[in-house]
Amino acid sequence: MTDNIQGKVVIITGASSGIGEATAKLLANKGAKVVLGARRAENLKRIADEITQHGGQAIYQELDVTQQSGNDAIVQLARDRFGRLDVMFLNAGLMPSSPLSALKTDEWHRMVDVNITGVLNGVAAVLPTFIAQKSGHVIATSSVAGLKAYPGGAVYGGTKWFVREFMEVLRMESALEGTNIRTATIYPAAINTELLGTITDKASLDQMQGLYDKLGISPDRIASVVAFAIGQPADTTINEFTVGPANQPW
Ligand code: NDP
Repeated sequence: MTDNIQGKVVIITGASSGIGEATAKLLANKGAKVVLGARRAENLKRIADEITQHGGQAIYQELDVTQQSGNDAIVQLARDRFGRLDVMFLNAGLMPSSPLSALKTDEWHRMVDVNITGVLNGVAAVLPTFIAQKSGHVIATSSVAGLKAYPGGAVYGGTKWFVREFMEVLRMESALEGTNIRTATIYPAAINTELLGTITDKASLDQMQGLYDKLGISPDRIASVVAFAIGQPADTTINEFTVGPANQPW
């Protein structure tokens, strides 16, 4: 099968580290034109420079996914600079795990803002383009926490469960409406990134850190799955992937 990635224009949110960074590098290496968004512009610049130095094409824009205007602006940037848009990878997220009894309500709301509202904003930004051109691909990073409950993950898991529901209905409605919008939802388990840096509850952090130190695998593994989904023929949606360490029971 020829790789259906060459020349595609791909926006990646949460591209400044971890899964987003690994995916940007892999897709650029396969000939995609990547548009990187996140808040840490200095990281985005470093990653875009690295891609360019290796002969790839990358641009970036500072983006806070909680703001609709920023999502609209990065879609516009992709279209202005590369003349089209093929894929939106909604990957920005944070996981400040804690028991509900710790009442870290600011963190609950922050997760809702980034992990849910960020996804809504991204889809709202990209849907008019995808509907008009009758093609497009929306990919989102959920989590195994969106498939299974665990103590400490009530709000995080709830946000990721939302992503699952939302993406499935997006897929169904796109099929019914004949807009040819493909979807892929990814459910990673323990992947070594900066994600644990958002945990402020010490017991939760110690427990997660122990798990990741023992089992965590590279974000390259998720990048490969994103590339696999994009690389399918235009008439084929591969909708869900659960990906994690072979020895994690999750
Ligand atoms: P990282 O912490 O390395 O990456 C998170 C990314 O999200 C960063 O690029 C960060 O950029 C970005 N981000 C956070 N808040 C915002 C915001 N308001 N606006 C724009 N970007 C934002 O962790 P991962 O790579 O692991 O996380 C990527 C996704 O994978 C997340 O959705 C996470 O929930 C999910 N996931 C990760 C797992 C893992 O084990 N690592 C397991 C399951 C799911 P910046 O701070 O520069 O804005």
